[in-house]
Amino acid sequence: MLRNLLLFAGPLAVAAAPFADINSCLTSASVPQILKSDSKWGQTIKPFNLRLPFTPVAVAYPTTVAQVQAAVSCAASLGITVSPKSGGHSYASHGLGGEDGHLMIDLRQFRDVKVDSATGIASVGVGARLGNVATSLYSQGQRAFSHGTCPGVGVGGHVLGGGYGYSSRTKGLASDALVEASLVLANGTLATASATQNPDIFWALRGAGATSYGIVTTMKFQTFAAPSQNVVFNYGLNVNQAQMKNVFSVLQDYANSTAMPAEMNMRVFINRSGVSLMGVFYGTQSAFQTAISPVLSKIGNPSGSVQTKGWIDTLTGYAYMPLATSLDYDIHETFFSKSLMTERLNDAAMTAFWAYWYNTARSNTRDWYLIVDLHGGISSAITKLGADYSSYAHRNALIKYEFYDRVSSGSYPSNGFSFLNDWVATVTKAMPTTQFGMYMNYADPSLTTSQAQQNYWLGHYAKLAEIKSAVDPTNLFNNPQSVGRK
Ligand SMILES: Cc1cc2nc3c(=O)[nH]c(=O)nc-3n(C[C@H](O)[C@H](O)[C@H](O)COP(=O)(O)OP(=O)(O)OC[C@H]3O[C@@H](n4cnc5c(N)ncnc54)[C@H](O)[C@@H]3O)c2cc1C
Repeated sequence: MLRNLLLFAGPLAVAAAPFADINSCLTSASVPQILKSDSKWGQTIKPFNLRLPFTPVAVAYPTTVAQVQAAVSCAASLGITVSPKSGGHSYASHGLGGEDGHLMIDLRQFRDVKVDSATGIASVGVGARLGNVATSLYSQGQRAFSHGTCPGVGVGGHVLGGGYGYSSRTKGLASDALVEASLVLANGTLATASATQNPDIFWALRGAGATSYGIVTTMKFQTFAAPSQNVVFNYGLNVNQAQMKNVFSVLQDYANSTAMPAEMNMRVFINRSGVSLMGVFYGTQSAFQTAISPVLSKIGNPSGSVQTKGWIDTLTGYAYMPLATSLDYDIHETFFSKSLMTERLNDAAMTAFWAYWYNTARSNTRDWYLIVDLHGGISSAITKLGADYSSYAHRNALIKYEFYDRVSSGSYPSNGFSFLNDWVATVTKAMPTTQFGMYMNYADPSLTTSQAQQNYWLGHYAKLAEIKSAVDPTNLFNNPQSVGRK
């Protein structure tokens, strides 16, 4: 299985001499650091999710691949676990290690974006944030690849977990556009992973690559021409429990049929204010009307807005903030989140799920939301690649759910977790023999290590553990929910 594994490229890292502590080793190897005494320390280790602060033993702040290699060698020589951080948006603060005491390697300075105009292949530093990546690709010949909506998310963690956004049903996941990655392995060497070099690592990186296999420094993506006609739609749904169940049932059927073309990307967004059916269709307005009519006609023909926009305007609209982000991006939230990836829900599960929304969620006064994405189905570019195309384990999931419950100030209440746990349980209890997936990019730290491994990677986990054993036999790269050894 592990054919061509460990075909290394690049120089060996500096061998670390015995040092009393990690800071001395990093200093000796000329690796830039943010020290605990530095005024930037607090900001550097501040997590996106303020609910989950952790303290690294040290922070490396490299600008070159050689410095990443040296930092890894230092940590290995001292037996210190290593966690890379790109954009720092892990829901579980996994960029900090998900626990105290890791060497955090902050990769924010790896942020170049360069398109080869002959091949359309873009070379992207892992610390580049999605908003900057999108605008830079567009400025270099109106190129693009499919990715998520938040401009501050780092391309590194996003792609390694899959990477889903408003063009994924049409063009695939962000990780499906990845054609090559350079990564520093546990022994300090630099490897290339692609379809032809270290293909098993390449397979593992695209869906399970966060932390577990090494530190990716550069990614190469096959870009596409950014679509010029983006039909952006939003319908407000004024529905009760039974009507909402019907809407969901209609959407589930739609996603699973040829009536939903690949050009259609659609979600239901629900919060305390109401329910919206929104998305993007790539094509003309008349093609959009043909494609959406099977849905609208079955849910009472709601009124809404339909506008044709350009690619960047569409991304900006769904970002709800400017795409440009600074090196010192400083946005944070305090929240608990969960996810589910489901094939077809049965009637009992749908009934319980929407009863919970109607009777319980609507009376929760915190700032919660639920996103129900039509992720897969017959025409979905994600599903079409086949279940084992990469380690991303959810290609057959028709629907993807993100549950998010946040507080605008103060700490998240200790009795708050049951709100989302119970909502997810409405489905899992109604379909007790189904193994449901969960999306690792919406990491849920309330899962145990083995629950996370099973839910994030389903039937791919055994192969992932085998690759892990070969690539990182000492488990240098880990966090509480990373891939373990066989
Ligand atoms: C506001 C917001 C909106 C989001 N929207 C979407 C969305 O639309 N679609 C979607 O799919 N996801 C979305 N996400 C989830 C996001 O994709 C994940 O949280 C992702 O892991 C963040 O990547 P990061 O580099 O910013 O985070 P980090 O915290 O830096 O990293 C996340 C994980 O990846 C590992 N990692 C980071 N860089 C590397 C590297 N170079 N090499 C190896 N491992 C690495 C880290 O160790 C950690 O385990 C959103 C998250 C937030 C906070």
